[in-house]
Amino acid sequence: MAYLGNIGRTLQVLDKYNFNFRKSYGQNFLIDDHILTKIVDAAEITNDDCVLEIGPGIGTMTQYLCEAAGRVVAVEIDENLIPVLKDTLSEYDNVTVLNQDILKVDIRKLADDYNGGRPLKVVANLPYYITTPIVMGLFESHVPLDSITVMVQKEVAERMQTGPGSKDYGALSLAVAFYSDAKVVTVVSPNCFIPKPNVESSVIHMKVYENSPVDVPDEAFLFALIRATFNQRRKTLVNALSNAAFLNVSKDEIKTALTTMNKSETVRGETFTLEEFAELTRLLYKKD
Ligand code: SAM
Repeated sequence: MAYLGNIGRTLQVLDKYNFNFRKSYGQNFLIDDHILTKIVDAAEITNDDCVLEIGPGIGTMTQYLCEAAGRVVAVEIDENLIPVLKDTLSEYDNVTVLNQDILKVDIRKLADDYNGGRPLKVVANLPYYITTPIVMGLFESHVPLDSITVMVQKEVAERMQTGPGSKDYGALSLAVAFYSDAKVVTVVSPNCFIPKPNVESSVIHMKVYENSPVDVPDEAFLFALIRATFNQRRKTLVNALSNAAFLNVSKDEIKTALTTMNKSETVRGETFTLEEFAELTRLLYKKD
């Protein structure tokens, strides 16, 4: 089977299987060989690696991954693509295709079953409708991960990489900074996909930290603070946090913490860096 990373071969496969795109599954297949090579290079895959691919589609990127990795596990929700993948990946004996919803997969078990519990490299042209739950789910579940290299909407890649002062700054930016060292690899034009998406895309590579650069007594409490802040980003930090019953912190406790941090009582949380959120966590967290 020749490589699929071009429009001619992709159309042949789509025709052969009479495939109808499902918009609800975020199906935009890559047809640019140059971009595929860039993604696989950015993921720094060696034949020692086990790669988890989310949403293989007709197997275009999977072929490249199978060439580079020791093992590939590809999770695809659309049952209509399973016979296609059986055909397009028939030359490879190092790939397993699972017909499942990635949001329901036990990735820790997957890492145990296919990689002896060692860290996986995640590589994907993500379905854009669930980018945030997929990325946050991977980080928060603490599955063993080496890196995440994914195609996302350009605007989402910007949110992932920004800091205080930008309107795009929020919980996703802070989670990416807490868990990984992230770099945008390249911007990708809609012309590199079939069908063409309405927006530009970016490939982002996130090298997952063994230990986060900031130290907190309780990660869940850090992210609860962050969530409460950005749920009411226009409010002062004192109001946003004291309004969030799930935090169980009083106005006085927050004011005292802000004084310790040399911050004004009227500061908004959206101006806080990750290190400042970590410091606030250390000051407000109560072990019970
Ligand atoms: N990797 C292929 C490529 O680059 O040409 C396809 C990428 S396409 C943007 C996203 C793929 O994710 C589609 O094949 C879609 O069916 C699949 N998908 C969508 N939701 C999914 C889910 N919840 N779990 C697993 N796969 C999903």
